[in-house]
Amino acid sequence: MNDIERCISLFERKAKLVALLAPSFPVAYAYPLIVARLKKLGFMAVLEVSAGAVKTNEQVIALLKKNPHARFISSPCAGFVRMVRKDFPQLVPFLAFAADSPMIATARIAKEKYPDCQPVFIGPCFAKKLEATEDYPDLNILVLTYRELDAVFERFKIGEGIDATGAAFDIAAAKTRTYPFDGGLTQTSGLKGLLKDEEIRIISGYKRLPAVLEEFQRNPKIRFVDVLFCDGGCINGPGIISTLSLEERKKKVLDFADG
Ligand code: SF4
Repeated sequence: MNDIERCISLFERKAKLVALLAPSFPVAYAYPLIVARLKKLGFMAVLEVSAGAVKTNEQVIALLKKNPHARFISSPCAGFVRMVRKDFPQLVPFLAFAADSPMIATARIAKEKYPDCQPVFIGPCFAKKLEATEDYPDLNILVLTYRELDAVFERFKIGEGIDATGAAFDIAAAKTRTYPFDGGLTQTSGLKGLLKDEEIRIISGYKRLPAVLEEFQRNPKIRFVDVLFCDGGCINGPGIISTLSLEERKKKVLDFADG
C-alpha cells in the first residue's frame, strides 16, 4: 500500500486526522481554499507548520545560548540530514537534533491539542517520509507530498469549486512563513542578534553543500550552518508540481506571509 492509498483508507475508516500544511504550500495552493478542501476531505483540523517552526526557532536559540562554545548544523531538512549521515558521518554529532524540525514540532502540537489524532504532514518533500518513519515512528505521522494530496483530492472528487468562506488555519503562525527559503531559520529566529555574521553560514542546493561542510570542518569560528538541500529551499522541493520559476514561487510565499 502506498501513502496515497494509506491516506484514502484512513479517510474511509473515519480516522481522526489532523493536517499539517508545510510553509511552501502557497506555491501549490490558494489560501483559504486549501483549508476548505482539506476540511471537506475530512481533516478534523488544519495546522500551519509555521507554528512548529516557531518552536524550532526557540529550541535552536536555547541550544546556542546553553552551549556558548558549541557549534551546530541545522537539522530541519530531512534530505540534508540523510546526506550528512551517508557522506559526512563525522559531522553527525554537530546536527542540532535537540531542536525538533517544524514538522515534528507541529506534530507534537497536534497530539497535544487533539489527543488520539494521527498527524498527516503535507509538503514538498519525499525525504520527510524517512524522517517520520525512521527517526520519529512514535509520532505516527503520515507524510504526503502535494502531488500525492492532489491524487487524494481526485479520488474524493474535491476540486477548487467549493465555498471557502470562513475557512482558516486552526493554528497559524505568521512570523515564520518565510521558513521554506534558504536562510529562513536564520532570518525568523533572531539568530543574527545572537551570533556575528562570520559565525553563520546560510546555504541551499545540494551541489553547494560539500564545500560549506568542508569549510565548517576547517574553520572553528563558524558556529551555525543553516542548510536546505534543495536549491532555493523547500519551495523547490520535488513534491511540488509547478511551472513557476524560483522567484515566482518565492513571491507566492511572500505574498501570503505579508497577508
Ligand atoms: S529543502 Fe528539500 S529535502 Fe530539505 S526539507 Fe525542504 S524539500 Fe525536503
